[in-house]
Amino acid sequence: MKRFAFAVSLAAALCAAAGETLTMATEATFPPYEFLRGQEIAGIDVEICRAVAERLGREFRAENMDFDSVIPAVTSGKADLAAAGITVTEDRKKNVDFSVPYVTTGIVVIYRNEEPYTGVDQLKGRKIGVQSGTTSDAYVLDTLKQEPERFKSTPEACAAMLAGRCAFVIADIDPAKNCVKGEEKLAISDFLSSESYAVAVAKGNEELLKAVNETIVAAKADGRLEKWVAEYTAEADKLKETFESGASAASDGEPSWFAKAWQSISDDFYLCFLKKTGDGSPRAMYLLSGLGITLEVALFAILLGLFIGFLVAVIRSSHDKYGYFPVLNAVSKIYLTIIRGTPMVVQLLITYYIILRSVDSKVLIAILAFGINSGAYQAEILRAGIVSIDPGQMEAGRALGLSYWRTMLKIILPQAVRNVLPALGNEFIVLMKDTSIVGYIALIDLAKGGDIIRSQTYSVYLPYLTVAAIYLVLVMTFTWLLGKLERHLRNTGADPVHNDS
Ligand code: GLN
Repeated sequence: MKRFAFAVSLAAALCAAAGETLTMATEATFPPYEFLRGQEIAGIDVEICRAVAERLGREFRAENMDFDSVIPAVTSGKADLAAAGITVTEDRKKNVDFSVPYVTTGIVVIYRNEEPYTGVDQLKGRKIGVQSGTTSDAYVLDTLKQEPERFKSTPEACAAMLAGRCAFVIADIDPAKNCVKGEEKLAISDFLSSESYAVAVAKGNEELLKAVNETIVAAKADGRLEKWVAEYTAEADKLKETFESGASAASDGEPSWFAKAWQSISDDFYLCFLKKTGDGSPRAMYLLSGLGITLEVALFAILLGLFIGFLVAVIRSSHDKYGYFPVLNAVSKIYLTIIRGTPMVVQLLITYYIILRSVDSKVLIAILAFGINSGAYQAEILRAGIVSIDPGQMEAGRALGLSYWRTMLKIILPQAVRNVLPALGNEFIVLMKDTSIVGYIALIDLAKGGDIIRSQTYSVYLPYLTVAAIYLVLVMTFTWLLGKLERHLRNTGADPVHNDS
């Protein structure tokens, strides 16, 4: 088994080496090592990997994903290397090769001042928030021997602690410092353990490992590493500014509760949507560009699903009624069973990591995964529509001299679609909302856009409620359009037999 895993990762590494672009897998909520500067990923790790790409004369690209996907991205060949403040551990060494370390650091406890941290014993049996898949996660599990509360990022765990959902958070010192900055209620402890960060490459990819090692050694020697650390630490310091409200400073006397509430909502609005991120665009751009991705994926997946759905529905119903297409019918049945029998998110991950692993466009991957999934459901809805049409209509069509397919296309399908339009509409709505899981493959759609704003501002209400409101408007608009289409079909010649116009 081990040998097989080795062969797979070596093959993946060789495939990746053949490509022009050097792809880095990272998780950009870890300042100063990696963070989002607007839409762009910046930080110390990014500079190191960019220098590796330069050394190799290759283009460079950084991919943002959840921390627990960063190492799998390398072992599956989705990325050439991973740098995300990754601590070198024995467990991880079984899956990837590590470069020489580039920094020594450690993990700390983030606590609320109302319950100052006194020592490890205080942590036992308490709810401890960690970022999933990190060494802090392992610390709670292996050293404290309890289950942590797992979050996607350290800022998320801190937001949960501020909301009273956990008692302490354990995290690496740099992101921990960033979390407590400007938060009067939070503070950090001394180191719990010492760790060192290194870059991970696929097992057996000696050539890349050598280039990474040379880059790190050179960057240490010529002072670049030190410069990056200083620059990005300074930039990361400015990342989390609490918005200073001009109005509340200027007001005289004690403001009313309404004025206070209004002020805090408008401050929050400014912080979440209008405040400019590092690249000069307002934060709301995360939602706007995310909305574009959501619409693109949903629309093309619906169309692909319709195409597959029609095909499978016609094959299945023709087989059931007339015994046509036995082989295609068997294939369709297998397709329906597999797609309907496995969760959408698993299908998406399999498509991303295994089936289409050499495809770069995540939008394309999402469209294919969702389209193929939706096709199965649409097929069954359409089949129900076809079966509901009186067999006499097929006979009549054939008697008039039309071929089987022409009768199907011109007479049966239009009526079938009209009959099942409400059910189809339902499927489209489910699909549109289901696309909100594309964050799993690091695609920044509407939901993920809201999540990024939340992770940068620590504000939970506005980002999530706004995202929910946008989905609601989308679904309502869509339902309205569908209603119009339904009325239109009822009043036009879509039903050649019972046409009452
Ligand atoms: N250094 C920690 C680890 O490797 C956390 C890294 C991170 O959260 N990006 O587990």
